[in-house]
Amino acid sequence: MSIESSFPATGSSPSEGAAPAPLHRHFIRQIIDDDLASGRHSTIATRFPPEPNGYLHIGHAKSICLNFGLALEYGGQCHLRMDDTNPTKETIEYVNAIREDIRWLGFDWGAHSYQASGYFARMHEYAVQLVNKGLAYVCHLTAEQMHDYRGTPAVPATPSPWRDRSIAENLSEFARMRDGHYDEGAAVLRARINLASPNMHMRDPVLYRIRKAAHHNTGTEWCIYPMYDFAHPLEDAIEHITHSICTLEFEVHRPFYDWLIQNVDVPAKPRQIEFARLNLTYTVMSKRKLLELVTEGRVNGWDDPRMPTLCGFRRRGYTPAAIRKFCELVGVTKFNSLTDVALLEHAIRDDLNRTSPRVMAVLNPLRLIIDNYPAGQCEWLDAVNNPEDPAAGTRKIPFSRELYIEHEDFMEDAPRKFFRLAPGREVRLRWGYFVTCTGVEKDPAGCVTAVHCTYDPATRGGDAPDGRKVKGTLHWVSASHAVASEIRLYDRLFTKENPGDESDGEDWRSHLNPDSLKTVTGYVEPSLAEIPAGTRVQFERIGYFVADARDSKPGAPVFNRTVTLKDSWAKAVS
Ligand code: ATP
Ligand code: MG
Repeated sequence: MSIESSFPATGSSPSEGAAPAPLHRHFIRQIIDDDLASGRHSTIATRFPPEPNGYLHIGHAKSICLNFGLALEYGGQCHLRMDDTNPTKETIEYVNAIREDIRWLGFDWGAHSYQASGYFARMHEYAVQLVNKGLAYVCHLTAEQMHDYRGTPAVPATPSPWRDRSIAENLSEFARMRDGHYDEGAAVLRARINLASPNMHMRDPVLYRIRKAAHHNTGTEWCIYPMYDFAHPLEDAIEHITHSICTLEFEVHRPFYDWLIQNVDVPAKPRQIEFARLNLTYTVMSKRKLLELVTEGRVNGWDDPRMPTLCGFRRRGYTPAAIRKFCELVGVTKFNSLTDVALLEHAIRDDLNRTSPRVMAVLNPLRLIIDNYPAGQCEWLDAVNNPEDPAAGTRKIPFSRELYIEHEDFMEDAPRKFFRLAPGREVRLRWGYFVTCTGVEKDPAGCVTAVHCTYDPATRGGDAPDGRKVKGTLHWVSASHAVASEIRLYDRLFTKENPGDESDGEDWRSHLNPDSLKTVTGYVEPSLAEIPAGTRVQFERIGYFVADARDSKPGAPVFNRTVTLKDSWAKAVS
């Protein structure tokens, strides 16, 4: 926990007051502008095509903001398409979570919700078209044999013994595959393209494989399932997508994408455009690894506030507006890079600074006894809710003889530059009075257990009529009025900048941060007792917090730390 020494710093962020980032004319916007100017398209259709085999993460948010954002900007449409062509890993739970997360992020697919599995019959027809043109064949090589036959970029592949089968034989073999005659692995349908192509994806790629598994949508209707590379261009074409935006690793798949679109009788000719995926420091983004964190119990579920999933971020208190802003700040390029997670945190702080009410909470309490304040007296002081937003108004907070302050705000042997409380020194209590420390109580071990002080009744509200100044302002709560509250202090999940990079031979799990969650009992001002779950606040001088959506209850609030006020990690955003 880091506490600022005095007030004005609360929540200020490096770019405060800066003009909003100008809309960047990135290369995809330029392509669209050109296509509209040349008359190639009169409107645009994009799509976001998640595979429902996991929850959405911040990388997906980049793609969602780009695809839905472009559709909004150009008055086009963006389709939500479940890319559910693999029956073994996909579930309805994921489908529903994906829909909820996209809506939460602020986007709407309107009537355009589709599922790839809804096109299985049409995809099958397109495969038959290829067979009829002599452009696909049924092959019985095992997976290992196919690997051995593949060649290298410089050495052409060895032809499969089934490559030159007749069209009639391929049609009947493909029908046998579809009818369940073959076991898994005993036959595949392959494109017949070019075994000498330097692009390995053009060396007769597999189009269909046998999976005797029930699909969450089509049940047991099919036992052959299309491969991603075959299915995806067809899905785009069937939906009349104009610009099919994907990540850079698919660049080498584009020749096959175009080959397929040219060789089957599809209703539209979409164009694939690649951009760099989002990678974040101190974060793993692969769905496989995120699933392992969950199944191995290293986090408490997909929505654990330490997860980079949208549901985790939501529970952490991140706002959709801040995530969208972050995605715009990251931009769209053709170069893979690692984005500093501090930029995301910066976007969160910037948004929360403007929107969060300020409240007081003490996380590491030390009793402060005001000896000249009448016992049993209570004053309700006025506190400003948000200095950034006058419309947020004020609230009443109770002041009494016994308060809690942060342990870190008191020092018995304080250096000259310690502007908080120390014997003989005077500080301001936020919205309250000036107090001067007169002494301490200690336990037998010599640890300070309480601090005594006197207050100056003339300084009510925080100013001295004689113009005397104090350097420090402390937050506090009234001990008898405060509400004890479970407070979860989250930190980064990994200690290594790029945990996904295992080139040093170390397992990514070995870089999990053992201190990524610390739970403390803190004391919050009574106005927070009934705080609705999901409400975001700033604990003055400490950070932004949200009432946990799952565990916070009326009378017993539980808070998750969204982000500290200032980046406690060295790298600053500028
Ligand atoms: P993983 O490889 O971790 O399983 P994925 O890319 O296969 O992730 P999908 O559900 O297929 O997951 O992704 C849906 C869409 O989101 C795709 O169009 C993909 O390009 C995009 N996407 C996924 N991860 C990122 C990322 N890190 N940055 C930008 N876009 C991404
Ligand atoms: Mg994918």
